Amino acid sequence: MDLGLQGKWALVCGASKGLGLGCAQALAAEGVNVVMVARGAADLQAAVDALRQAAPRSSVLGVAADITTAEGRAAALSVQGGPGVAFDIVVTNAGGPPPGDFRDWEREAWIKALDANMLTPIELIKATVDGMAQRGFGRIVNITSGAVKAPIDILGLSNGARSGLTGFVAGVARSAVTGQGVTINNLLPGAFDTDRLRVTMAGASAKTGKSVDELADARRKTIPAKRFGTAQEFGAICAFLCSVQAGYITGQNVLADGGAYPGTF
Ligand code: NAP
Repeated sequence: MDLGLQGKWALVCGASKGLGLGCAQALAAEGVNVVMVARGAADLQAAVDALRQAAPRSSVLGVAADITTAEGRAAALSVQGGPGVAFDIVVTNAGGPPPGDFRDWEREAWIKALDANMLTPIELIKATVDGMAQRGFGRIVNITSGAVKAPIDILGLSNGARSGLTGFVAGVARSAVTGQGVTINNLLPGAFDTDRLRVTMAGASAKTGKSVDELADARRKTIPAKRFGTAQEFGAICAFLCSVQAGYITGQNVLADGGAYPGTF
């Protein structure tokens, strides 16, 4: 299916690895020009170079910046492929907050989580949504987490900050911009095979004394699909949400978790 995105410009955050990279790859495969953001310059450059090879008809640019800072967002937003070119698509994403016990989290930990996983996506929406509406087309996809639907005890910072974003998006996705061709949706990963999942598993292994393989096998067994998702699968869903065909889908929380969430809705 041609997603109708050829020549559009996308800002993809957290794009040197994992789910963000999957989104950048899927969009570039559709002929979208992609600006990729991550903090680590070397990994980012490697990802940019690989994507240029894989998608020669797209422009692929990298911005090494921390998207959770005002300076980082300004750097990312100022690229826009050159004068007069604005973003048609924004994929918001940053690392998730650390696990822990809420009794140990002081205000600073909460502010950091809120900055990264709630206020940064809101700032990016604020910076881009009106331009999209004026041009009559826009797609914003926020990478959040399955923990928004089914909270995970030790991920309280994530549960809280991302739920705040989810509430905000529910409102703005139904505001005046919706009638001007802009959709805003959240894409909720369950367990995907990325660095983040491997780091979480290594942390659990150190705590429990069980091997990473043992823990990964046990986790896979809890998922009806009996496996972890891939960044490619995630990227494909993101690209569809950005497509012309998905113009009637907005304000939704799209869960991709291999059936792990046990509810009917
Ligand atoms: P990942 O494999 O660790 O990749 C994260 C990417 O984001 C990297 O490119 C990283 O590069 C970049 N990044 C992190 N913090 C950033 C920042 N402040 N500014 C700019 N770039 C930043 O993680 P992932 O698995 O793709 O996860 C993506 C998001 O989905 C996270 O918020 C995670 O909590 C959430 N999630 C993932 C899963 C899963 O199973 N994988 C499940 C639920 C939720 P640098 O470090 O170089 O900046």
